[in-house]
Amino acid sequence: MAPVFVLTIFIAVLCSVQGRSTGKASFERSEEDMELDRTSTNSVEEEDFSASTLIEKANRNLGERLGETRVIFGDIAVNTGLINADPCTARTCKWLKSSDGNVYVPYVISNPYSDRERSVIEGGLQTISASTCVRFLPRTNQKDFVDIQSQAGCFSYIGRQRNGQVVSLHRNGCVHLSVVQHELLHALGLNHEHSRSDGDSHVQTLTRNILPGMEYNVEKINTINLGTPYDYNSVMQYSRFAFSRNEQPAILPIPDNNAVIGGATQMSPIDILRINRLYNCRKQMN
Ligand SMILES: [Zn+2]
Repeated sequence: MAPVFVLTIFIAVLCSVQGRSTGKASFERSEEDMELDRTSTNSVEEEDFSASTLIEKANRNLGERLGETRVIFGDIAVNTGLINADPCTARTCKWLKSSDGNVYVPYVISNPYSDRERSVIEGGLQTISASTCVRFLPRTNQKDFVDIQSQAGCFSYIGRQRNGQVVSLHRNGCVHLSVVQHELLHALGLNHEHSRSDGDSHVQTLTRNILPGMEYNVEKINTINLGTPYDYNSVMQYSRFAFSRNEQPAILPIPDNNAVIGGATQMSPIDILRINRLYNCRKQMN
């Protein structure tokens, strides 16, 4: 079957944590979308996987579609032409706070999602709203909004962009509570945990085990950590085998090399605290 789109650069060819083979092309074709309409795309068993594992699996063959979204750091989208996704929340990319103390984030869920998938996505939005002052609301005519689409893989921009910003939740692999939370936390302004400015004190990067060209995925960023501790159980923490080329750890927790990292199946209390602090929510629930 001839691919519809020509991939120019495979920027984010991610490893398979369990060594499973790729089951699907990065970019969907219409007949496959039709098949997705007839079948459930996320097995019950997949709900047991962590956000990290699900994202790595779904993005394994994620590439760059010419002229469209470029994805770096595994699942962070940047506008073509930009070098990286620097922290921006101290400048312009926070969502605006309403006079009532809430932060309203308009969203659109584009077709095609099944009712069940839409329910999972909206349920994920609701979990964030339930524990923070962020309120996702269906867009009416707001200029800036989150546009949730089933593009290739799972990815998001960091923080508020201009106009509609895509959060991709591919129907085949990304429509899970933990992934919805992960990508929406990106859209609210959070970076990956292993990219934290103080990450070198908590995780060691084993460059020799990282896929060639993927080293930038585990680089540290000058993040704003909001007085919160490094959290191995953050839904934003990738697993130790992320970006591994040889089934050996690429991200090693230190000093306890045996600590569990990247295993979160939902937001941690510290993830919630970060959002509450980032947006200065009056009632901080955690
Ligand atoms: Zn991410």
